[in-house]
Amino acid sequence: MANDASTVFDVVILGGGSGGYAAALRAAQLGLQVALIEKNKLGGTCLHQGCIPTKALLHAGEVADQTREAAGFGVKAVFEGIDINAVHAYKDGVVSGLYKGLQGLVASRKITYIEGEGRLSSPTSVDVNGQRITGRHVVLATGSVPKSLPGLAIDGNRVISSDHALTLDRVPKSAIVLGGGVIGVEFASVWKSFGAEVTIIEALPHLAPLEDENSSKLLERAFRKRGIKFELGARFAGVEYTETGVRASLENGKQVEAELMLVAVGRGPVSSGLGYEEAGVAMDRGYVLVDEYCQTNVPTISAVGDLIPTLQLAHVGFAEGILVAERIAGLKVVPIDYDGVPRVTYCNPEVASVGITEAKAKELYGDDKVVTAKFNLAGNGKSKILKTAGEIKLVQVKDGAVVGVHMVGERMGEQVGEAQLIYNWEALPAEVAQLIHAHPTQNEALGEAHLALAGKPLHNHD
Ligand SMILES: Cc1cc2nc3c(=O)[nH]c(=O)nc-3n(C[C@H](O)[C@H](O)[C@H](O)COP(=O)(O)OP(=O)(O)OC[C@H]3O[C@@H](n4cnc5c(N)ncnc54)[C@H](O)[C@@H]3O)c2cc1C
Repeated sequence: MANDASTVFDVVILGGGSGGYAAALRAAQLGLQVALIEKNKLGGTCLHQGCIPTKALLHAGEVADQTREAAGFGVKAVFEGIDINAVHAYKDGVVSGLYKGLQGLVASRKITYIEGEGRLSSPTSVDVNGQRITGRHVVLATGSVPKSLPGLAIDGNRVISSDHALTLDRVPKSAIVLGGGVIGVEFASVWKSFGAEVTIIEALPHLAPLEDENSSKLLERAFRKRGIKFELGARFAGVEYTETGVRASLENGKQVEAELMLVAVGRGPVSSGLGYEEAGVAMDRGYVLVDEYCQTNVPTISAVGDLIPTLQLAHVGFAEGILVAERIAGLKVVPIDYDGVPRVTYCNPEVASVGITEAKAKELYGDDKVVTAKFNLAGNGKSKILKTAGEIKLVQVKDGAVVGVHMVGERMGEQVGEAQLIYNWEALPAEVAQLIHAHPTQNEALGEAHLALAGKPLHNHD
């Protein structure tokens, strides 16, 4: 530690994940004196157990699928199988490179980085390693961990969480994925690509249930085609060990057997025993409550990331961390429009969206005030070349702006950048239709969908 115990920092940040380190980097950039306390590894879930390692596995899965399907492109290749140790080496190499870069970045901004488990000791201090670290402001950024269901024990062997799945020493022959949300469908996709038999159990009527129903249905069609099985609207009743693995029972009487079961039913906040309540911070079911400026009811305490009840996404953590740092530094800040946050589920095919669903738009504006248009990727040259199927669906308020963009197809996550500009700049379909999209790109499909919505479809067969 560079500073002695008498130092009063401008900001003390508890937790060095996406939310915490973004706040630290921006605050330091604005000239504030920053202490960043992390008990494990700088970078948190996203870098070590989340976004980055899962996407490396998904990419390895994509390479496996492309090798299997190489003959269809006229390329001779034989898929011999997955070398899981080599996959982990590739994944860990990506993570460790980024980890080193991030450590260097934090050091270069002159942030006081403290390794240790911290506990909030007052509205302006955190105790760590037997020392009291004091600041004018404290930012809570202790993130989240995998949740389970009541009575369902995660043993790390046959019943596992996403943390275990990321370091599994083998490709399971078969797997049950409990939960068809973002994390569940991503692992289902990876394991299927690696050669496992996969069954997803989802209590709600659709996979990726927070997405527009059209996207969920397209994903289900694609997964069915890939041989990924799923039980929808199926409530989990319990799991028992068998000689070779596990048997999950559903409330509808069905049973599914597999080598292991991944529990992917969401993530819960890390807040218990950390002194938050004692300092007077208002909480709800473990989440720290904040206003639209990420400030808690205790004026010196802010909170960001998965610890607060907003979208659990790394880029949301970054944005909240930056917002808090700028507010503390006295800059004018604007609240985040959470509907305008781009969301990508990176399974194969990818599901990407920004804005609101058709159902939500109808609820907000009325059935007769909502217009939609679709563009099928079958009419998009680059998607044909890639042999991917899917669709772009737009939701518009009648005679007004585009309020929802919903995309399904391989690599469609890469299109969400333009989609978020369209939503966040409240673009009219005719304005986007006027912009020229390069041919042949998948991005062109986004342009075509707007041409359709503006009443002048080009390659639409509808
Ligand atoms: C499998 C998986 C895949 C994901 N994929 C994506 C994706 O593709 N895109 C995306 O945007 N998001 C993704 N996420 C979500 C993303 O990882 C989180 O939203 C993000 O990491 C939240 O950042 P955070 O800073 O709030 O919390 P975290 O990243 O959890 O960081 C909190 C940090 O606080 C530390 N900490 C906790 N308690 C203490 C304490 N008492 N003292 C000191 N330190 C402490 C922890 O060690 C941790 O490093 C994924 C998550 C998972 C699990």
